[in-house]
Amino acid sequence: MVIIVKQNTKEERIRELIQWIESQNLRTHISTGDFSTVIGVIGDTSKLDEDLISGLDIVEGVKRVSEPFKSANRKFHPLDSVIEVGADKIKVGHGNFAIIAGPCSVESEDQIISVAKSVKAAGATMLRGGAFKPRTSPYDFQGLKADGIELLLEAKRETGLPIVTEIMNANHLPLFEDVDVIQVGARNMQNFELLKELGKTRKPILLKRGLANTIKELLMSAEYIMASGNENVILCERGIRTFETATRNTLDLSAVPVLHELTHLPVIVDPSHATGVARYVKPMALAAAACGADGLIIEVHNDPPHALCDGAQSLRPEQFEDVAKAVRRVQAAALAED
Ligand code: PEP
Ligand code: MN
Repeated sequence: MVIIVKQNTKEERIRELIQWIESQNLRTHISTGDFSTVIGVIGDTSKLDEDLISGLDIVEGVKRVSEPFKSANRKFHPLDSVIEVGADKIKVGHGNFAIIAGPCSVESEDQIISVAKSVKAAGATMLRGGAFKPRTSPYDFQGLKADGIELLLEAKRETGLPIVTEIMNANHLPLFEDVDVIQVGARNMQNFELLKELGKTRKPILLKRGLANTIKELLMSAEYIMASGNENVILCERGIRTFETATRNTLDLSAVPVLHELTHLPVIVDPSHATGVARYVKPMALAAAACGADGLIIEVHNDPPHALCDGAQSLRPEQFEDVAKAVRRVQAAALAED
């Protein structure tokens, strides 16, 4: 249920209303905008007397939220959420565009430091790199694990870029203490125990859409993290599996406007895993910026033919520089159009 409070209502009256709601075993989420305050009520609201609440002199209106996702719902939080990342509080969302770049996996000190420096020079705002890699084959490179995270931290010290890396097991959380954004990969989007554990942290979580999951399921997974107390969620469209084989996945760009309508959370796009082909990354990155994405995550490698993972979709640093420049132009045009 969403309660819209009349403009200029005294804070004390709003607090009284919230206390009354919470005394009935319900939780509230307050969203304060320039023109109104919205109280989202979470829990079994069937026992709340809607007419009684509508009749209060401070209440403008009451709406039932039929969708099963509540905290992630734009009805609960009409304004775009802005997620702050790292010590420098780099903003993502509401016109703040993130460009996350780096290799699929961290392979060596030289590799990650060199890629980190070049993507930073090209305008990336965060560094990505997998330390724990979810590979289809158990015989493929599984990542440098804890050592990979150490190397990412070194790259952060060298460049100042916040780091983004994937978690596969909640038991590894202590290793992620200094990681700035924890990624939940497509294969773990519905690992609900992992999502609940991440909900107990306050770290920004980059939640990637599962290979065969609907937009609603993605939002329900975000809800798991938020229901456990962590509202710092960034969603990522990374392509879904269809009958098409010309690309690794099919990039569902319409998910961007759909998600913006349904949720206040920022939405970024991964054109690398979506297409699986380096030369398709630029057109899809530009399309993502044009349709209102809040950022991109792009794979960049200093030597793609010899990459231990996803070389075919990885850009060389100079290709990334070209993409980043073009993306900034398109993103500025899209913002002006908004
Ligand atoms: C990745 O970002 O390296 C990755 C494994 O992505 P996804 O989970 O989207 O396949
Ligand atoms: Mn990859």
